[in-house]
Amino acid sequence: MAKKQFKAESKRLLEMMINSIYTQKEIFLRELISNASDAIDKIYYKALSDDSLTFNQEDYYIKITPDKDNRTLTISDTGIGMTKEDLENNLGVIAKSGSLAFKQENELKDGHNIIGQFGVGFYSAFMVADEVTVTSRALGSDEAYVWNSKGADGYTVEPGTKATVGTDIVLKIKPNTEDDNYDEFLETYRLQNIVKKYSDFIRYPIKMDVTRSKKKEGAENEWEDVTEEQTVNSQVPIWRKNKNELKDEDYENFYFEKRYGFDKPIKHLHVSADGAVVYNAILFIPGQTPFDYYTKEYEKGLELYSNGVLIMNKCGDLLPDYFSFVKGMVDSEDLSLNISREMLQHDRQLKLIAKNIKNKIKSALLSLLKDEREKYEEFYKAFGRQLKFGAYSDYGAHKDDLQDLLMFHSSKEKKLVTLDEYVSRMPEDQKFIYYATGDSIERIEKLPQAELVTDKGYELLYFTEEIDEFAIKMLQKYKDKEFKSVSSGDLGIEPDASEDAAKETDEAKELFEYMQGLLSDKVKKVKASKRLKSHPVCLSTEGEITIEMEKVLNAMPN
Ligand code: ADP
Ligand code: MG
Repeated sequence: MAKKQFKAESKRLLEMMINSIYTQKEIFLRELISNASDAIDKIYYKALSDDSLTFNQEDYYIKITPDKDNRTLTISDTGIGMTKEDLENNLGVIAKSGSLAFKQENELKDGHNIIGQFGVGFYSAFMVADEVTVTSRALGSDEAYVWNSKGADGYTVEPGTKATVGTDIVLKIKPNTEDDNYDEFLETYRLQNIVKKYSDFIRYPIKMDVTRSKKKEGAENEWEDVTEEQTVNSQVPIWRKNKNELKDEDYENFYFEKRYGFDKPIKHLHVSADGAVVYNAILFIPGQTPFDYYTKEYEKGLELYSNGVLIMNKCGDLLPDYFSFVKGMVDSEDLSLNISREMLQHDRQLKLIAKNIKNKIKSALLSLLKDEREKYEEFYKAFGRQLKFGAYSDYGAHKDDLQDLLMFHSSKEKKLVTLDEYVSRMPEDQKFIYYATGDSIERIEKLPQAELVTDKGYELLYFTEEIDEFAIKMLQKYKDKEFKSVSSGDLGIEPDASEDAAKETDEAKELFEYMQGLLSDKVKKVKASKRLKSHPVCLSTEGEITIEMEKVLNAMPN
């Protein structure tokens, strides 16, 4: 039986598509600029194999011209242009991508720059325009054609004139409505911002005429408006530049320009990965805790670029929670994007990149700890708590990644020490890593429970934050040494033979029973202790939960 073709109400399809694919109207400019860049790239690739063509960099650019009086926005390019057939096939057929076909025909492998693939981006123009006119002259042709459409109603193609090869796209910008502002797409500064945001790293110059006031030459107080053509985009992204040519300052400027923060980053990382997954990344460890860092409002994530075009502002999947303080961007050619190019199709590549990035951050922090101790401590003051939360979270699953990054205040060093430092100087007879919990260092120092440990010459870690003890409970051990709270029942310390062990004399027994009676609902048992030196009495616990943990647990809402 002969198969029938599906029919589609193209008018409705177009409307549905335009309004459901994209989350933001401003994306239309990203799409049209991407197409213009592709068109120039095509000449560039043709020139590689065609001797009759030369590619002079300065001849190729994209120009954006708003016209407030006529409510039009023109996007012009000096790219390969479109023939009459191209206009019919590529702009008349939804979901047909001439760029994808070009890549296939020319067998362009990975590493190419052509962006188009889905054949829908162009129609995003109808989000902001009620009429679109495309005038194009193809490379190698003297003729120009004009494609015109008011959107859903269909389109026309007619002969026209154009002096040079390339394409002009004229958008008739919609009038404002109660809910939507469209005037903004005629404002030069707004357009500049959109270009900067999404298309800053397009390889060809994106030019705009920018008017500014300038002091009249020779005059004291007279000003005049001058209009100059400016290139809006930076073109070569910092992450594609050679690391050797970049200074700390360049990275700091990038951090500031990108508004990752207003502080001075403690460290930057420039990653160019060339393995199982190819990507470039610039990552920063900020110098200060953002004001909302430890709140629900804080959103982690890195900027995600596909081939220099911004896809996502904050891609949270690229960072584990315990490194959520890291700022920066990732650019990859390997991403499979979904049709709106705002999300990813598969997360396999993303997972690979995320894992890779996690390891880079970890080793960067470890080398900071090793080589620039002061800076590390500064970092730890700002974000150490997050690392401890990380060690505790997911039942200690991240222990291997985090345990060497943790630091605690030490009774011996009177400053922050790592677990490795602690363990490496443990005397042979010491079995445990001892810690004491309290509100502050001063208070812990006065704890009677701590005395036996410190008298013995053992180092004691001071836990002053609630999370500390929970975190190490998840670690359980460090280098085979278990953690032990000074308030736990058995400290595992042999009393010195020379000293008289506390004896439960009959007299004492009576006293203990009397005390037990008085405190019956508060303590389980009163007994003689071997650990006291200068204090008459102390509290201790049996089992896993220490007094401090109990306090925290009791304070938590059920
Ligand atoms: P995509 O870019 O994903 O292919 P679009 O809907 O954005 O889809 O564009 C459809 C096709 O129209 C492109 O593949 C390209 O062949 C053609 N096209 C669009 N804009 C231009 C342009 N400025 N110059 C040349 N060809 C263009
Ligand atoms: Mg496109």
